[in-house]
Amino acid sequence: MHTKTIAEIARDLAAGEYSSVEITTDLLNRVKQLDGDINSFITVTGEQALAQAKAADERRAAGQAETWTGIPMAHKDIFCTDGVVTSCGSKMLSNFAAPYDATVVEKFNQAGAVSLGKLNMDEFAMGSSNESSFYGPVANPWNKDHVPGGSSGGSAAAVAAGFVPGATATDTGGSIRQPAAFCGVTGIKPTYGRVSRWGMIAYASSLDQGGCITRNAEDAAMMMNIMAGYDAKDSTCVEQPVPDYTSTLNDSLEGMTIGLPKEYFSSDLSADMQQAVRDAISEYEKLGASIKEVSLPNARLAIPAYYIIAPAECSANLSRMDGVRFGYRCDDPQDINDLYKRSRGEGFGGEVKRRIMIGAYALSAGFYDAYYKKAQQVRRLIKNDFSAALKEVDILAAPVSPTPAFKRGEKTSDPVEMYLEDIFTISLNLAGMPGMSIPCGQVNNLPVGLQLIGDYFAEDRLLNAAHKFQQATDWHLKTPAGI
Ligand code: GLN
Repeated sequence: MHTKTIAEIARDLAAGEYSSVEITTDLLNRVKQLDGDINSFITVTGEQALAQAKAADERRAAGQAETWTGIPMAHKDIFCTDGVVTSCGSKMLSNFAAPYDATVVEKFNQAGAVSLGKLNMDEFAMGSSNESSFYGPVANPWNKDHVPGGSSGGSAAAVAAGFVPGATATDTGGSIRQPAAFCGVTGIKPTYGRVSRWGMIAYASSLDQGGCITRNAEDAAMMMNIMAGYDAKDSTCVEQPVPDYTSTLNDSLEGMTIGLPKEYFSSDLSADMQQAVRDAISEYEKLGASIKEVSLPNARLAIPAYYIIAPAECSANLSRMDGVRFGYRCDDPQDINDLYKRSRGEGFGGEVKRRIMIGAYALSAGFYDAYYKKAQQVRRLIKNDFSAALKEVDILAAPVSPTPAFKRGEKTSDPVEMYLEDIFTISLNLAGMPGMSIPCGQVNNLPVGLQLIGDYFAEDRLLNAAHKFQQATDWHLKTPAGI
């Protein structure tokens, strides 16, 4: 049962092949047996999951089942869950049981989904390898010495390991697309504002966006049907109708033009990674698409701009973690300053502290114009590049990361090396546009992802292009040895 997709489980439950309690029990047992080595879960909510599954089975017996009734999944531990610890991968929030559900969580609960628990992540979503979690690193199910990517490494590893068919995730600079690529699964980062951020713990508010990781594009469409939509509680959430993302999955790609940003096929990308991505692009030609080279001339500025804007916003967002209002408090504080200093000093890990310091510096009087304002100007240039490219073509195709999953420990000593991992993903967050990662090959027995990029609110187009590719190829069906 553990390799079934969301769509298959929905069909099986409707046909009475098994009950929600049966599949939930089966997956919980798998997590118990196998997650010790992978560490994808921070909290398993077994009892709650079985209660939700039982209620779902009862609704079905009463003839009230809907598409999502009884389908198991799990949430990245950045989404607040009522009464359940929401740690954001940090010691700081390791004792924080949220008093409410995030909008995304509430929507899945209302749809009748069953949540198995909370998934591991880089601390406060800062990282590209899941090595900065207070709860320890996550192993890549394809090779346990390698990282699963980050920051949604727990979400990607849990889907790849067959613990859940789908998981929520978030992407501030690549944290859905890169772990999906590293773990050979499918991920979508929607347009900024498409999914409510209410109850999603803020890292960099103008970049953060909730999305999902699944086995294939059809399942991602099913998750998006639940997640997307206006929420009055999030002032950046866009009021725009949500299409049924599953209804356009099979549209023909005949006549579609796919742009290849020439800057993304440079020497930053090794020959075998290039080959995997180019083979995928040839597949699109067979499906009727035409290919055109485009240019994103300011792409090289994305990393420097992001690593000013994201730390600046995180230094403001994380100021609320002070040992008084939220989370961890140090023992025996001598006075109020000691309380703040030691609670924050002991509660945050090294990468989070580094970013708070960079951000506070970039925002300080005298430096604001030189750094933050300049970075925002560069951001506009990057956005304009994407908009110009997407006037010439329907979608863009690109690599997700310069390498496949690297070894644990390989990049931890050099933060800049780690930041360069995001070179192909980060610009999209600066522009606010949607992107996907789908499995498209293997290098050194590790999965490689293809990135698809669309204009604002073109999630349906991306899911359609991803689904057609997956109808024609079998990369998304491959599973790690022993899974
Ligand atoms: N790796 C990037 C960072 O560390 C992106 C993380 C994310 O998307 N949450 O900021």
